[in-house]
Amino acid sequence: MSSRYTREIRTPAGDSSAIDTRRAGRRRRFKLQRTAQSILYRDKVEPKKQHRTVWCHRHVTHEGGMPVHRKLDGTSARLSRIKTCGSVWACPVCSAKVAETRRRELVHAMVQHTAAGGHAYLVTLTFPHYIGQTLAELMEPFTKARQSFQNCKTWKAVMARAEKVGVVNSLEVTYGAGNGWHPHLHMLVFCQPGAFGEGEPDDSGRLSSHAIDHLRGEWVRHLEKRRLVDGANRSWANQYALDVRGGKMAAEYIAKWGHDQAWGLSSELTSAHAKTGHRDTWGAQHHYTPFQLLAMAGTGDGHAMCAFREFVAEFDGRRMLTWSRGLKDHFGIAEMDDDQAAAQEELALPDEHQVGELQPEQLQTLTRYGRLGDFLAMVAEHGHVEQPQRLIDEWIEALARDGPPGRRGAILMDRLMVTDHVYFHRAELIE
Ligand SMILES: [Zn+2]
Repeated sequence: MSSRYTREIRTPAGDSSAIDTRRAGRRRRFKLQRTAQSILYRDKVEPKKQHRTVWCHRHVTHEGGMPVHRKLDGTSARLSRIKTCGSVWACPVCSAKVAETRRRELVHAMVQHTAAGGHAYLVTLTFPHYIGQTLAELMEPFTKARQSFQNCKTWKAVMARAEKVGVVNSLEVTYGAGNGWHPHLHMLVFCQPGAFGEGEPDDSGRLSSHAIDHLRGEWVRHLEKRRLVDGANRSWANQYALDVRGGKMAAEYIAKWGHDQAWGLSSELTSAHAKTGHRDTWGAQHHYTPFQLLAMAGTGDGHAMCAFREFVAEFDGRRMLTWSRGLKDHFGIAEMDDDQAAAQEELALPDEHQVGELQPEQLQTLTRYGRLGDFLAMVAEHGHVEQPQRLIDEWIEALARDGPPGRRGAILMDRLMVTDHVYFHRAELIE
């Protein structure tokens, strides 16, 4: 920005490198969100039928301007009167927000449980899979096998002995060039210490015991019933399809859960692909998270783009975390769905101030050039100047004037419609 603004910048309180990292993370997520929107947008399909992530931060809920808010410490800025999609799988911006809430819930449960003398285990369920299998053909039998396993006598008997308080299921999937889609389930089991009659863990943290072998055998039996295991891969499954790790690993899993690093959203992971952008980044030993696929798609990798689309089609509507019945109550955690978690900041927060307003045409410009994240980072950093509205207007004017050729910048706006007896809102497309 021009020197007029930079001269007035005060160093915000707090660790400036941590603030930079946070701002950079948000910028990256907004960039990836714009990529997801292009990938998920379907030509000649009406706006209402598009994937909801297509309109995330592009759907104005009131006619007129959108207030721009800035955190007083300069860490972030946001718009209000705008719709967010709340999609944990497809939207890098919303998923980060939802994950923050979900991680706090998990940490809260873990702290209470261990303070009361309990122990948490991390049980992982997986199965053999091959390149060329679609995600849909894997997920259906996997889900059924998992449900019948969690209802089987063997599992219930082990859990009863362990005085199980409850289980949180965490669903994940990665993609590898060697073996294709790799769906797996992590189960955080809240119970008593020594639940599996286990000894010390091996070097990789895996526990072993008769009970664990027995459970693994049972899991493989359920996989065979669903034709996910046969003679060709049974010995692999008998070794690896189920593993159990102890409290330290469960705590680490929770601490990392939903973080950019774990989801392939950190700068090292995304920019590595952005820089090379070549297919040689694929390899049998590599697994990519869905958001890494998205980053690769953003650099023109068509294979990654198709994979991301397939992933969203299959995972949309699935729950990322499922708490067993009564477990949230047990820890005193209120139920909140993903949409609510994503929209949480809609309440005006005491640690922020309104610095101006964004007009719909300005939002269109930011959308067209894919610069909403950069804009919000700029407001976070410089929004404490004396005339922030002028800063906002000039920044966007410069973008519209000097920016590279952009994409379409269509947005939706809810307009209040009035007929004889009824008032209602209709979303109108503005191009
Ligand atoms: Zn979203």
